[in-house]
Amino acid sequence: MEECSHRSRLGQWLVPLAFIPLLISNATGCDESASSENVDFRQVRAPYVVDLPQGATICVVTNSISDDLELLSHVREGVKRWKDMSAQLGLKYRFVETEFTEDCPVGDFGGPFIIDIYSTEDSHIIPPNANVKDTLAFTGVPVNSGGIYIEPFNSIYVYPEVDGLGRDEGAHVIMHEIGHAMGFEHTGQATGAHIPNTPQSEANSIMNPALDHMAVGQFSAGDKCALVALFGGRDV
Ligand SMILES: [Zn+2]
Repeated sequence: MEECSHRSRLGQWLVPLAFIPLLISNATGCDESASSENVDFRQVRAPYVVDLPQGATICVVTNSISDDLELLSHVREGVKRWKDMSAQLGLKYRFVETEFTEDCPVGDFGGPFIIDIYSTEDSHIIPPNANVKDTLAFTGVPVNSGGIYIEPFNSIYVYPEVDGLGRDEGAHVIMHEIGHAMGFEHTGQATGAHIPNTPQSEANSIMNPALDHMAVGQFSAGDKCALVALFGGRDV
């Protein structure tokens, strides 16, 4: 499993907010001046991203955490924000959250494709190569298993510390992990495939590697640009 953790830097919440200008050239957040030369801050995709028929349903299943009401509310909010953004941007896929796999709706042209949510406390799974005390959640990125489609990574593992986060921070963690499961890597990382025209500077991207004071649980302008680049194209 290719593992990708979401680390917290809780101490940063205590630092006064610094004004960080965003370089946004148009309403979609796509920066035509950004290029692969700008390696310090940018959006990065995994070798494989989700590739399904348009109208396919991606279903986040919560029955493994159904008695953890705080985590459940974070998951529902995170999925809702993906769902809303998919509708707003006209993305190919429909995001839903259900308790049971059998309740996942079939998409217009495919699916449902399942992402299960687990608590690390219950599953006793510890991510490889991770500093456990700083990790809030982890998942993988899509792989090419030789089938017809590239499906989302099928599991997201969440640490108990996420329960105590506020509404926006909790949603942010879930949105970030779904981003990995869909094929995003960390914004600003030095290696990987640059998503064309994503801004050079993006302090509030959901795919930044650390949860900090900019974690507002909203897709940034650059995130929207990247979403359209990777998953746009639905007929509306
Ligand atoms: Zn991450």
